[in-house]
Amino acid sequence: MSDKIRIIVSGAGGRMGKEVVKLVLQDDELELAAAVDRSAHGRDAGRLVGLEDCGVLVTPDLETALADTEADVMVDFTLPHSAYSNTALAVKYGVRPVIGTTGFTPEQIAGLDKQCQEQGIGGLIAPNFSIGAILLMKFAAQAAKYFPHLEIIEYHGDQKLDAPSGTAIKTAEMISEARQELRQGHPEEEEIIEGSRGGYYNGFRIHSVRLPGVFAQEEVVFGGFGQSLKIRHDSYERAGYMPGVKLGIQKVMGYTGLIYGFEHFIE
Ligand code: NAD
Repeated sequence: MSDKIRIIVSGAGGRMGKEVVKLVLQDDELELAAAVDRSAHGRDAGRLVGLEDCGVLVTPDLETALADTEADVMVDFTLPHSAYSNTALAVKYGVRPVIGTTGFTPEQIAGLDKQCQEQGIGGLIAPNFSIGAILLMKFAAQAAKYFPHLEIIEYHGDQKLDAPSGTAIKTAEMISEARQELRQGHPEEEEIIEGSRGGYYNGFRIHSVRLPGVFAQEEVVFGGFGQSLKIRHDSYERAGYMPGVKLGIQKVMGYTGLIYGFEHFIE
């Protein structure tokens, strides 16, 4: 067997899963062990993502793939309702989970960590694999120590259901840990049109812009005496998450236990 890292892609037919299949097929250090999806089964995984046939056919059966392929890592971008059971199954078979699917509870994460420890394997659950977005959060938290007056503005496509975005909430949490307590703005401020000042979080505001054509952007604007500072990250396409997924795959090969949050890999 080669020394490439063997990967099962779970959710291989989805928008993120297809990018992961492309990453794995085009990276010399990675090898596609199996492609699993409820849809598209029987199709060649290479052809499914617009590349040449690779000889791996999409299967709906994750358990057989885990049992039969001697994979090292399972990357999962499926749906919140199946991500926990997929992850638990991978760990049961000693296959390291690298999970991008959202929706895990703290109890599930703690349980999976215990199972990874028992199996002696590494695992990662990362609600955001974008290295640039993680850096934005870290830089913003650092800046908030010196510029406690700030507003977060996030931009997404107009079909996004939730607001603010998970990334904006995480940014707000990280800023709050570093920032002195302060309720900004005029104490008698009034909204003439409801919602004009955005959502309130721990003394500052978050604004969600929803427009067609936008993929994902976030800006933190800081104001101080006679100056302002803007930290901004622009995501243009799903491929932008793949350097983070690759780093996650490499990292889980080298430790034991489950890590939650990609920020732990970015010093
Ligand atoms: P999608 O709907 O395009 O794809 C999901 C795929 O999973 C579909 O092809 C579906 O058939 C398949 N699927 C569903 N249940 C399955 C199961 N039990 N077994 C096998 N396949 C199954 O969704 P998407 O846009 O690719 O997003 C997938 C997940 O990734 C979502 O939870 C999303 O929030 C998350 N996401 C995370 C990041 C990150 O950086 N971590 C980035 C983008 C999206």
